[in-house]
Amino acid sequence: MSSLEIKDLEVSVETQDGPKKILHGVNLEIKDGEIHAIMGPNGSGKSTMAYAIAGHPSYEIEGGEVLLDGHNILEGSPDERAKAGLFLAMQYPVEVPGVTVSNFLRTARTAIDGKAPALRPWVKEMKEAMEQLRVDPAFAERDLNAGFSGGEKKRLEILQMQLLHPKFAVLDETDSGLDIDALRVVSEGVNHVHDQVGCGVMLITHYTRILNYIKPDYVHVFARGRVVESGGPELAEMLERDGYDKYIEA
Ligand code: ADP
Ligand code: MG
Ligand code: MG
Repeated sequence: MSSLEIKDLEVSVETQDGPKKILHGVNLEIKDGEIHAIMGPNGSGKSTMAYAIAGHPSYEIEGGEVLLDGHNILEGSPDERAKAGLFLAMQYPVEVPGVTVSNFLRTARTAIDGKAPALRPWVKEMKEAMEQLRVDPAFAERDLNAGFSGGEKKRLEILQMQLLHPKFAVLDETDSGLDIDALRVVSEGVNHVHDQVGCGVMLITHYTRILNYIKPDYVHVFARGRVVESGGPELAEMLERDGYDKYIEA
C-alpha cells in the first residue's frame, strides 16, 4: 500500500519584492488508487503546491514535508522524485528540438527504470497506449519541438503518465483549454491509466466540468494557501452550485 502524504507544507516564492509566502501549512494524504480533486479559486496556491512537489527551483520550502511511502521526497532531485514513482506533468519539457515523441518517451522510461525497455514490447506498449488515447500514430515520430496544440500537449502528458507507470500522478489543470471532445478523451485516458496502473491521482482543477468524466473519491477545497475543507464528490456539487465566495471571504 503506497501513500503520498503532504504534511504542514509551507512554501514561498521569490518575487521582485522579496520572498512571498504562498502555502501556509498544507495537509493532505493520498493512498494508492485514490483520486483526489483539489479545487479552489484562482491564486489560492494550487499550482504552487504542484511546483513545490515537482521541485521547481523558484519555490522555496519553508517547512513541512512530502512523504512518498514514508520518505521525504523534498530532499531528492526532481529526477529522484520521478524514480520514486511520482509523475508531475509539468516537470517534463514539452519542447525539445531534434527529439521525437517516441524517443523522448523511451528516454524518460529508461531514466525511471534505470534500464532501457526491450524494444519490441516497448513499441507494442506505446502503440496500444496511443490507440487508447486516440492519438494519431504519426504523432510518435513528430519532433517534440514541432509546435503542439494545447490539446496535443495534454494528450502527451497522459501518454507519459501511462507509459511511465507512476505510483502517484499530480495533474495541474489538465482540463484547461480543452474543448469538450478533447476533455473526454483526456479524461478517459486518466481513468484508463488509473485503472490499469492503479496509481493515485491528485487532480488539480478550478472547474467542476472535468469531474463529470473523472470521478474523485475525495474533494478538497484549497483557499489562501491551505486545504480548508475536505469531503466526498458531493463537495464538488456544492462548489458548482455556490462557487468559492464563502472561502475567499472567510
Ligand atoms: P492557483 O494555481 O491556485 O491559481 P498559484 O499557485 O498559481 O495559484 O498562485 C498563488 C499565488 O502566488 C498568486 O497570488 C500568485 O500571484 C503568486 N505566485 C505564484 N508564483 C509566483 C511567482 N513566480 N512570482 C510571484 N508571485 C507568484
Ligand atoms: Mg480509485
Ligand atoms: Mg494554477
